[in-house]
Amino acid sequence: MIENIKDIIEQLTTKEKEFVNTNAIDTPLKLIPLLLKRVNPQNVQTLASLIKKSVLPSICSKTNDEIDELFTQIEKDVNLLFKKEIQDKIEEFINKRFERDKKVVIERTSDISKLVLLMEEYLNDAISSNGSGSKVVLNIKERIESINIRDNGLEELTKLQNELVTAAISIEKEMNTVTSKLETGKTKVQELEEKITTLEEELNKTKIENMKDPLTGLLTRKSFTDEVVRIESSYVRINTQYAVVFFDLDHFKKINDTYGHECGDVVLSTFGKILNKSIRDHDIVGRYGGEEFVAIIHFNLNRELLQFLKRIKTIVTENSFLYKGQKIKVTFSAGVALRGSYDSYENTLQKADMLLYQAKENGRNKITLENGMEI
Ligand code: GH3
Ligand code: MG
Ligand code: MG
Repeated sequence: MIENIKDIIEQLTTKEKEFVNTNAIDTPLKLIPLLLKRVNPQNVQTLASLIKKSVLPSICSKTNDEIDELFTQIEKDVNLLFKKEIQDKIEEFINKRFERDKKVVIERTSDISKLVLLMEEYLNDAISSNGSGSKVVLNIKERIESINIRDNGLEELTKLQNELVTAAISIEKEMNTVTSKLETGKTKVQELEEKITTLEEELNKTKIENMKDPLTGLLTRKSFTDEVVRIESSYVRINTQYAVVFFDLDHFKKINDTYGHECGDVVLSTFGKILNKSIRDHDIVGRYGGEEFVAIIHFNLNRELLQFLKRIKTIVTENSFLYKGQKIKVTFSAGVALRGSYDSYENTLQKADMLLYQAKENGRNKITLENGMEI
């Protein structure tokens, strides 16, 4: 039985009532198209699940839980969708979800940039560090570890963080190996440097030793000639006068024959010491051959030179050489030429040699000077 049309209209929504008025609906039959526009419950169900899908998932897990809880209620009674308070709640979630997702994205990107910055700092320090700097590096590794990513529920970032820490550990290991290799290399280089220094010292010692005649301790003929170059340049520059004195022991062969070669050596060595002690700092004396010696004696006045020659002669002739308790008399002959009288050192030396020969000729135990004087 069809109810009174007025009763039906009474149950309609405000909008439907307006529609009825504007379209002058006055029979139940005319009402049917309007009522057919009403939403099918099945469609409401679909609509509810679409709304749920549009707000889920959120990056923020707390929001996910809250939305889930609300839609569980709606699924039980879809008509809740038409309730004003539920609609407000859905609208609130849409806004909340957006805000919360934005916040999480900001957090996440700030964590990433923090990690990237720290890793960059780490690598720079690791590269410039030489072992002692690894404390700084260690500190950065700890800072990477201490960023609180896990609490934000960011699994991917936590994984990245762990990978960075693992990378840092292997960089450190590599660094330590390189440092220890460098240090080993350093000690090897130091050892080699020390060896070189020792060898240089030995070489210098040998050089100096080679400059000296081992028996007498005087300059060898070679090093004497080298020293003459220095003296000559001073003569040319500032006219430092000097004399070349050529000495030769008399009848030395006889000493060897009488007392033995060893005794001859002692005589040579002693004569060498006498000469060496008698000269002054800038003078030089060398062993020129077996029992021949040459000296360069600087002087200002001839008197000084004569004094030197006399002193040598006196020491040798007024004393005896001692060998195994035996007193041996030794004499020498010498020739003296003044550098200033000749145009070169070589010519002066030659003249001194000639004068020595003269001294021998004239009976030995004599010092002959170029002016014919004999001491
Ligand atoms: P003169 O007065 O004419 O110079 O006669 P001399 O015997 O001194 O000269 P000579 O040249 O005839 O002999 C030199 C000797 O010196 C011959 C050599 O055996 C000896 N002699 C050379 N060098 C050494 C040496 O290092 N040690 C010793 N013990 N004798 C040496
Ligand atoms: Mg001789
Ligand atoms: Mg001789």
